[in-house]
Amino acid sequence: LISKGGMDSKRVKPVEDHEADDVAFSDEEADALEQQILLLIDDTPSRVDWEAIGGLGALKNELKFHYGLAMAKVPDGIEVEGWNNIMFYGPPGTGKTLLACAVANKLSATFFNVKASQIVSKWVGESGRLISTLYRVARKFTRDGRPSIIFIDEFDALCKSRGGEGQLYHQQMLAAILSEIDGFAQKGKRDLVMTIGATNRPWDLDAAVLSRFERRILIDLPCTEARADIFRIHLESKGIPVDHRSLSYARLAEETERLTGREIARLCKEVTADMLGEMNPDIPALVDAGLKRIQDYEIKVRALKQGDFSAALEGLVPDTSEADAHHYADWGKAVSDGKGA
Ligand code: ATP
Repeated sequence: LISKGGMDSKRVKPVEDHEADDVAFSDEEADALEQQILLLIDDTPSRVDWEAIGGLGALKNELKFHYGLAMAKVPDGIEVEGWNNIMFYGPPGTGKTLLACAVANKLSATFFNVKASQIVSKWVGESGRLISTLYRVARKFTRDGRPSIIFIDEFDALCKSRGGEGQLYHQQMLAAILSEIDGFAQKGKRDLVMTIGATNRPWDLDAAVLSRFERRILIDLPCTEARADIFRIHLESKGIPVDHRSLSYARLAEETERLTGREIARLCKEVTADMLGEMNPDIPALVDAGLKRIQDYEIKVRALKQGDFSAALEGLVPDTSEADAHHYADWGKAVSDGKGA
């Protein structure tokens, strides 16, 4: 796994002490970078199944199909291409990360979770090497036939055309990612390292970036039916009892237009916490009474009713404005018409 570099013993340095990417590379540095990459491996996907994602039925199928194509045996003499590089875009909290996790889970992939801005600020000056190490390690993990998925969140952070030193390192990292993606594509053989980008600001991605991703997929605000599904998922997954004579997921969905999956999850948590507070008013006193008393206490729950959501919904302003919501769809249309980035 470790690449042998030059003789220079310069160590990989965090922010304060950065140098440019073109200095020779020692074994210790290679090792340090590799350790950093191993920390990006995330086992969250093993806990995310398609059923944990509300709505998006057609897209889930499309993802299964194209990743299936990328993994299945190809008959001799025929070239079949699945998706190796895709970009999810859309408002924050709509399930982009969840989808990437579900794909990784189903393919038993090693999942490298990269937050673009975070790694570049931590390893300033090393971004190009960090990326080549990332792809090298990812490739190494494919040796037993399992794919590796490199999930790059906040992809737009690498593409903003502002000046400054930080910007330079972002651009180095972007150039390194694009060349890794290109490098694989040119080999003409099946590649088990797949890149999934995600962004809330697709309009910051330029044509050079977009052209590297076979598909750009809008993960939009959930429709009414999807919202009902998301309410069900978030209440049922926690085993919270629901009074179905009073509470209807469809009605909750109608009252929560423009809410994202993340906001619905938050709402369910808030309402559940209120119910627990109401049912268990003695908990603070029991904590004061000592560890044994609180450990002997069993939490009381009651079924949630429609009315429990009314207070939480009152005056709730969705995080995504109507204009923002349209902006994503308009951008997607402009790009497919060839008028966008
Ligand atoms: P960001 O763009 O801010 O990174 P994201 O689109 O990647 O957000 P996720 O991280 O996938 O959003 O979702 C955040 C949380 O919101 C999830 O952990 C889940 O609790 C909830 N959520 C979002 N979308 C859905 C969905 N379609 N079904 C169920 N839960 C969802």
